[in-house]
Amino acid sequence: MSEEKKISVTVLLPAGRLPLDIMAAAHELAVKYDLGIYCSLAQNLRLMNVPESLVPEVKAALAPLGADFKGPGKFPLPRVCVGKPHCNLGLVDIEALNRVILARFKDRPKTKPKFKIALAACPLCCSGVGLTDIGVHATKKGYEVYVGGKGGPNPKVGRRIKRGATEAEVVDIIETLVEFHDRKTGKKQRMWKLLEDPEFPFAEV
Ligand code: SF4
Repeated sequence: MSEEKKISVTVLLPAGRLPLDIMAAAHELAVKYDLGIYCSLAQNLRLMNVPESLVPEVKAALAPLGADFKGPGKFPLPRVCVGKPHCNLGLVDIEALNRVILARFKDRPKTKPKFKIALAACPLCCSGVGLTDIGVHATKKGYEVYVGGKGGPNPKVGRRIKRGATEAEVVDIIETLVEFHDRKTGKKQRMWKLLEDPEFPFAEV
């Protein structure tokens, strides 16, 4: 008899913040079913080695606590540095900007892959702003926005498309980029592939 397939269940954590009740429930499930727990590079909580037949039970234990699970079509949660006041170099409370972004896009019915977003509270860009499809970092004179960065075996630094932006302008720029990506993408595509499109909505600054 073949062994049951094991998979991962990923709980999405906005700005990498892990609510204590979800942490406690995840711990309980991990002890009970001998699961692994991985804090992912995307700042989510991944329960590993979950037997397929247990997935509904695991989700049923976490969902009432407000857990949202990774799945196709969801707007990508930004990767967010810890920011002010938890880092003494932080210029802004970047978690607050993250909340504004998520509030704007939470009802978006289906977002095509595959682009990522990174936010940082100062120009050191610990969250990888320059190497992410859409990157935003704070400066003393507002936000800078980058597009088209990527990691992987052939990394690319994103193109700066805005300096001195307000929070509201940042969210509007992200919306313009997301809609442009949606219009120009069949199934999936990284942002850097759109940079040379003649209709690309932003110039380098
Ligand atoms: S990007 Fe700046 S504010 Fe954010 S964690 Fe790094 S040093 Fe701190």
